[in-house]
Amino acid sequence: MIMQFMTELSGIKALTKGFFLNLYFRKYKKKSIDQQNPIYLIITIDTEQDVDQQYQNIGTYRNIESGIETISSVFDKYTCKATWMVTPDVAKQYSEILKKMHDKGDEIGCHIHPEFFTRSSIAHLRHTEYLCNFSKDEQRRMIKKSTEIIERACGFRPVSFRSGRFGLNNETLSVLQENGYLIDSSVCPNMNWSKDGGPDWSHYPNTIPYFVGNILEVPITIFHVWGMNYWFRPSVSTTSTMKNIIDYFRFKLKGPVILNMMFHSMESITPNPYISSNEMITRLDDILSYLTTINVKCITLSELYDLMEKIEG
Ligand SMILES: [Zn+2]
Repeated sequence: MIMQFMTELSGIKALTKGFFLNLYFRKYKKKSIDQQNPIYLIITIDTEQDVDQQYQNIGTYRNIESGIETISSVFDKYTCKATWMVTPDVAKQYSEILKKMHDKGDEIGCHIHPEFFTRSSIAHLRHTEYLCNFSKDEQRRMIKKSTEIIERACGFRPVSFRSGRFGLNNETLSVLQENGYLIDSSVCPNMNWSKDGGPDWSHYPNTIPYFVGNILEVPITIFHVWGMNYWFRPSVSTTSTMKNIIDYFRFKLKGPVILNMMFHSMESITPNPYISSNEMITRLDDILSYLTTINVKCITLSELYDLMEKIEG
């Protein structure tokens, strides 16, 4: 009952926000969109232990055992590739699934929640720790260890990274570079979690990828208007809102449009803290179907890195 109420409430919230976005977009809808502008879609998926509706780890991995297959079947329908950001515990236990995805062209990146290292058991623990709050040495230990675990389990070394709860700072970037990483995707433009002890991205309004040293930062696509943030993410935005975001960037940007859609693999199972899994899969299917009508190329983070290197010369 409570679960149904929460799901309905988040649905109403998404629809209300979508209404305001529609108002904003009226002016753009009258203008023509440059059909020649290339559009690249990157799908980045946080892949970790199941959590309940209070964001507590529940010690199971149903989302890996069955959720990944559900999501992948939608990707296969539209010939999409994804970048799965996996935690070391997932790599340890499910390397065969990850290797299979890697072999078919998906990318496996690294995702770290510090509690994996700071607690003897991460089951029944609410995610509250941020990598960016640890010293550089402690971050180095966690990143080095996680990278080794993934490499040992899967037989390849990850080159893309996302910090758990987006907790990244300059030390993290420096340690990532030391460990051979090429891409980070932890920046959430306009978001501010500092009250919760987390990162403040409110001074990073730009969703366009940029280099920091050798690391390509690929921010998550979040559109900010009238004090509200709209994520390009099926679990928190309706299909209509996501279409509006795409069309805004197609109209506004003169160069290539790069969209970074993020979500969790756990959003494909029930329960999860974000959305009903059926609704999530329906929205994902609908938005990918729309994207195929406007000639979008779906690539992995590594492929984007190669592309950006060429563009930057
Ligand atoms: Zn995570």
